[in-house]
Amino acid sequence: MSDIIQLLPDHVANQIAAGEVVQRPASVVKELLENAIDAGATIIKLLVKDAGKTLVQVIDNGCGMSNTDARMSFERHATSKINKAEDLFNLQTKGFRGEALASIAAIAHVELKTKQESDEIGTQIIIEGSKVIHQDPVATPTGTSIAVKNLFYNIPARRNFLKSDTVETRHIIDEMQRIALAHPSITFFMYHNDNEVYHLPASNLKKRIIAIFGKKTNEKLVPIHEETELLTIDGFVAKPEFAKKKRGEQFFFVNNRFIKSAYLNHAVKMAFEGLISNAHHPTYFLFLNVPTDSIDINIHPTKTEIKFDNEQSLYAIIRATVKHSLGQYNVAPILDFNRDSSMDTPYKYKDIKPSKEPSVKVDRSFNPFKSQDTPSWESLYTGIENNPTSTEIEHIESSPETSLFTSDAEVSNAKTQQLHNKYVVSAIKSGMVFIHQARAHQRILYEEFLTKMTVGEAVSQTLLFPIKLQFDSSDLMLLKNLQEDLESSGFQFDGISDENIVIKGIPSQIEESQLSRIFEDLIAAEKEEIPDTSFSHIDYMAKTLAKSTAIRVGQSLNNKEQEELVDSLFSCKEPNTSPFGQACFTTLTLEEIDNRL
Ligand code: ADP
Ligand code: MG
Repeated sequence: MSDIIQLLPDHVANQIAAGEVVQRPASVVKELLENAIDAGATIIKLLVKDAGKTLVQVIDNGCGMSNTDARMSFERHATSKINKAEDLFNLQTKGFRGEALASIAAIAHVELKTKQESDEIGTQIIIEGSKVIHQDPVATPTGTSIAVKNLFYNIPARRNFLKSDTVETRHIIDEMQRIALAHPSITFFMYHNDNEVYHLPASNLKKRIIAIFGKKTNEKLVPIHEETELLTIDGFVAKPEFAKKKRGEQFFFVNNRFIKSAYLNHAVKMAFEGLISNAHHPTYFLFLNVPTDSIDINIHPTKTEIKFDNEQSLYAIIRATVKHSLGQYNVAPILDFNRDSSMDTPYKYKDIKPSKEPSVKVDRSFNPFKSQDTPSWESLYTGIENNPTSTEIEHIESSPETSLFTSDAEVSNAKTQQLHNKYVVSAIKSGMVFIHQARAHQRILYEEFLTKMTVGEAVSQTLLFPIKLQFDSSDLMLLKNLQEDLESSGFQFDGISDENIVIKGIPSQIEESQLSRIFEDLIAAEKEEIPDTSFSHIDYMAKTLAKSTAIRVGQSLNNKEQEELVDSLFSCKEPNTSPFGQACFTTLTLEEIDNRL
């Protein structure tokens, strides 16, 4: 049989490649605007006709091209921006693939006029479906003008696939806005069917946002700024009262390139937690700057998705920074920072008086990523001053006082009593002790989990039927990161896919029925600002597991359970407080009782 493999002609290959780069007129707008920016233009004009179906033209005052370069620019993989693979990791330009012009020229009628400053005369090139029709000298100002007409004229299927003019125009405006926001120092004009849509003079970011979204925006903006080793964040968020029902103005730029990231969007949303309802979406314009070698923008042809080296830390920093700024600008008067404050300083029990938290508590200096004093493992268990230690609590004995709390039906020689399904009460040598059952149990479980997870001797019970839990993909991503720690605490998985997690073994302390709650709590905790050390992660998990599995207020306990609770609490290393810093018990001395009588 004869050979059948042949190379595709260039214009066919270009048409195929074009499908990746150019989905709709807005893709052409994006590519041409980016080229103008890469060319160092300070004034850029965008002209659009019929939602870009008839014309997309970009005129810039950038560096222009030589006669030869003008011709070369339409070749596939022709680029002036990189020349070796390593350059990909240190990109300073928007483009780098050298595909855009070749792709566009394959599926439209293109007219290029360009001139360099140093040249007297410029070059004009007319290309139709990859075929050069003309290349002539032309009188034209320094810079480049590229007109793209009749997009998809030779691919009717594509052309028919385009949406209404309203929809396609919306896409074009989206691209225009993204680029204009990322480059406030460049002047932009946009015309649609000869009507001016934008005239955006060179300015700063705040003025650019106002120029695009209207004067009213001015009062809405809260500035954001944070510098850490991993990244710097700048930009604005809109105050919570301006959050939208529809997902509207949400802009993330990484190294000045617009990106979409459901994950990072979630970080911002979580910073607004408690300030806006779940049905609302915060408005934000956030610019992240990260070292170019910590991202990979090469994973998607149209480059709106990128891969970060340390996405989890970025999530935490973004969330903390936005939250902090909202607090600082006093737009968050009733923020509940309770949870954070207890989570942030888990081991400073000495300093925590179980007093009431003030209702507004914004830790302005809090930054989980600046150096933090991570406590040593041993310091976890240092004693607590000014508090009764377990030795002061005498062996529990039956006494007349306790029987006061006994209902007639119960046996009166019980060592402990339950009060209102909330406290376990017991006589001690000096008087009485009131133990908060929920907090005490949290403390007991927390220490158990922590020890097992650290020492790695968790006991796992295998489930007869593996349990499948569904979460959205960003939540599953968080769980995936916890997989190892979860396994060391006694969980066994059959896999974590894009849609669900299959659990086949669980720690011996917990029950199947608690699983979905535990995982929801774990995800919620993971979305808090967890300092990025493996210790803090284990600690968080131990706390979360303890919290979601502990006995609750309202639960009735039999005598055996009450006694176990008391005994276990006082064999804890730090029985005084719950893992969240709340007092586990209080005592009433005989003297105090005497004084009252
Ligand atoms: P890329 O931007 O990935 O390099 P393009 O196909 O978009 O690929 O452009 C190819 C080359 O044409 C660019 O590398 C650049 O040298 C040149 N070029 C394109 N547009 C312009 C412009 N507006 N001004 C100056 N040079 C341009
Ligand atoms: Mg380009």
